[in-house]
Amino acid sequence: MNLYPFVESIAGDAALSEDLEKLKDYEWLLGRVYEKIPPKSGSGTFELPEPQVIRVGTQTIIKNFRDISQKLKREPDMVSRYLMKELASAGSYEEGSGQLVLSVKVSSKVLKQLLDMFVKSYVKCPTCGSIDTHIEKRGKVWILVCEACGAEQTLKPF
Ligand SMILES: [Zn+2]
Repeated sequence: MNLYPFVESIAGDAALSEDLEKLKDYEWLLGRVYEKIPPKSGSGTFELPEPQVIRVGTQTIIKNFRDISQKLKREPDMVSRYLMKELASAGSYEEGSGQLVLSVKVSSKVLKQLLDMFVKSYVKCPTCGSIDTHIEKRGKVWILVCEACGAEQTLKPF
């Protein structure tokens, strides 16, 4: 009796159901992502790069920190100061590697949420939703200036 086709069919089914599980997760995630994006927001959709996070002991390293800052058109120093303030943590940006090293254990999920908050408060134009903005410091006042629609918004300095 040749058992081979039988064995193969079981293995095949197992692999298939595993794929289906992955697909379901993927669809679920995708659904969640779409829920969070407002239907029409100014100049199309902006996607924050996923923070690449590694944790070493009590430190958390964001490997692609420079890329993230560049996408947001903000100095890494400013973005890192924001994260350190929110996490009440020390940290240092490494110019050479483009990494941010935080002296705290924090998950990539929390970092993503903080970066989303940063985008909402310090990057995105509240008038048109564009992220083509910059911050002007006038004395002690910070102004978010939109390059797309020209709107200005006073920000809370940090
Ligand atoms: Zn605008």
